[in-house]
Amino acid sequence: MIRSESGAPAPAIEVNDLTVAYGEQPVLWDIDLTIRQGSLTAIVGPNGAGKTTLIKAVLELVPRAAGRVEVLGRPYREARGEVAYVPQRGSVDWDFPTSVLDVVLMGTYGRLGWIRRPGRRERREAMEALEKVGMEAFADRQISQLSGGQQQRVFLARALVQEARIHLMDEPFQGVDARTEKAIVEVLRELRARGDTVVCVHHALQTVREYFDEVAILNVRMIAAGPVDEAFTEQNLRLAYGGRVPFLQGVTGFEVPGDGP
Ligand code: ADP
Repeated sequence: MIRSESGAPAPAIEVNDLTVAYGEQPVLWDIDLTIRQGSLTAIVGPNGAGKTTLIKAVLELVPRAAGRVEVLGRPYREARGEVAYVPQRGSVDWDFPTSVLDVVLMGTYGRLGWIRRPGRRERREAMEALEKVGMEAFADRQISQLSGGQQQRVFLARALVQEARIHLMDEPFQGVDARTEKAIVEVLRELRARGDTVVCVHHALQTVREYFDEVAILNVRMIAAGPVDEAFTEQNLRLAYGGRVPFLQGVTGFEVPGDGP
């Protein structure tokens, strides 16, 4: 646990007054968000709400028009070694030949430093991580030959061997089968059990309660953020998703009267 000067645990991520615009159009407006160390947090909101942009703003991959972001009480630049990123499925174009095992082994480079090469121990850890996500049979395969969902499982295996404390994941469950979804949930719980923080852009509202501790509901502005029990309410979801709510039935644990078939 990383503590601030006062001795209190530093937030994993603290966002203040963040505004991001692509050209003239603000896509995130005056966002405040505190993510607790050791939590599993879902970022939800309709398409175009700015979820991916929020992750990219934390990683300094997009410029901020205004606001401040701290990671473990420090600017991202000073904390980047603590942060791992699993990008959206299919968003990485692998045009150079690299095996699945090599991609996972890359996760060990940070702790090995410049001189040491990954050895037997690192290879064993990498294979164990691949087993956890059900990809051990693909270890020697070229990463470019895998489907987007399989590539994403390889990224998760890399997260397991990485010494990062904060994992930012963009829709890790997108388009995966039920077995893979279970494996991913297990990975997230394992990361949490070792004290890591996981933040996922998440699409499936019906699994928010089961999978996550905290939720941030976003639609350009931050609608609500906090423990799932407090923030994940029908009212907040209506604010974020507007009138398109039939799919909310049963999602928050409340029935939506009159929205049934
Ligand atoms: P979400 O992840 O919630 O679907 P995004 O963060 O991907 O939303 O996008 C938020 C808004 O910003 C969308 O309207 C999208 O079209 C726009 N946008 C995203 N990336 C760019 C970009 N590189 N240039 C211009 N507009 C962008």
